[in-house]
Amino acid sequence: MRYWIETLGCPKNHVDSEKLAGLLVSQGYDPAASVDAADLVVANTCAFIEPAREESIETVLDLADRRRAGARLVVTGCMAERYADELVDALPEVDLVARFGESLTATTPVALRRRSVPAFDLLNLPRPATDRPWAYLKVAEGCDRRCGFCAIPSFRGDQRSRSTSDIVAEARDLVRGGVREIVLVAQDLASWGMDRRRGGRGEAVEVLDEGGAQPLTSLVSALRREVDRVRLLYLYPSGLTPALIDTILQTGVPYFDLSLQHASRPLLRAMKRWGSGERFLERIDAIRRAEPEATFRSSFIVGYPGETEDDQRELLAFLEAAQLDWAGFFTFSPEDGTYAATLDAPVPSELALERLREASEVQDAITARRRDRLVGTTQRLLVDAPGVGRSVHECPEIDGVIVVDPSLAVGSLVDVVITASRGTDLEAAVA
Ligand code: SF4
Repeated sequence: MRYWIETLGCPKNHVDSEKLAGLLVSQGYDPAASVDAADLVVANTCAFIEPAREESIETVLDLADRRRAGARLVVTGCMAERYADELVDALPEVDLVARFGESLTATTPVALRRRSVPAFDLLNLPRPATDRPWAYLKVAEGCDRRCGFCAIPSFRGDQRSRSTSDIVAEARDLVRGGVREIVLVAQDLASWGMDRRRGGRGEAVEVLDEGGAQPLTSLVSALRREVDRVRLLYLYPSGLTPALIDTILQTGVPYFDLSLQHASRPLLRAMKRWGSGERFLERIDAIRRAEPEATFRSSFIVGYPGETEDDQRELLAFLEAAQLDWAGFFTFSPEDGTYAATLDAPVPSELALERLREASEVQDAITARRRDRLVGTTQRLLVDAPGVGRSVHECPEIDGVIVVDPSLAVGSLVDVVITASRGTDLEAAVA
């Protein structure tokens, strides 16, 4: 029996797919070379915002068309968790909608209108060997924060951190399989371990106010001893403590993925989030003072209810002042059951799109300048695939890449000189 998994959405979902693949292999399945060669076709969906849901539905319908006669089609992931009943009604092509922890291979209809007991916990499943020299490692599931626009805590639940020993054991397995860079992911990575310390209470945790050590710092230090590179994604800005900044800099990967969402203080408060453009700039400046070559990424929402022209101007001014290397922009999408969906003063979608275009234009020019600055520098490259590598300044799958001699061995770390900048990508020659 062969399986095919199609994955949508964020890196966290890709880790889930690898774990599902590991589970299927342990049940006797082999990976299929293509959708039409699979007996079991799985769509691991994303429900983050409306466009992600539309893409998930289109993918499911496409898989239904492409599967061979008799193959079973299973929908799982965030959309299955959140809209299981609606999916069953709307997609007769689908054989099974499996919520988190429910079997993908059940052949009897599941009782979808009542919550079944999870058969497994994705976090702690083994994963199959990877042919890439880097891997995401998911260290927690769920989130204790309640940002106004975000539905994730409603279906992923409060934060549940894995233990250090489980995470280190998984990292060692990955390294034995040839991985040289581990990318840590969680919904709120900076708060990793806080729930284990406090028993979890489903509230936002401001680690700065906690006193004592931030658990993530010791985890990152432990992982640093296991693997060449450790990269951290999704850092809530108040969680970026001086100790965590030091720890990240000590890993030799001065890459800061800050989840900022906006720069206007009133708008951030309306989003039920910490910070302001000024506070963010203070932290970015402090990091640049300690490491001038630090790289910054962030994402922003435009068109949140009540957003004004002044808020937009503040965002644009922040982008110019912060000079982030990478940034993504999204238009607000009201999600069922969130605080933001109840707010008045919606921003018309045309205006939100206009603001998104404006912010992207400003950032594209900044990103191009930041990439140009690297020309002539020497960087240590991890060769991801023939002819393609990354330095510490590029996160896999999200940022640009560095084009190199295709004869360099995949998985090797090589010193290169950057010779040219081509949009977001760079070219390099062996130093
Ligand atoms: S930190 Fe906020 S945006 Fe991120 S998962 Fe938690 S609630 Fe959602």
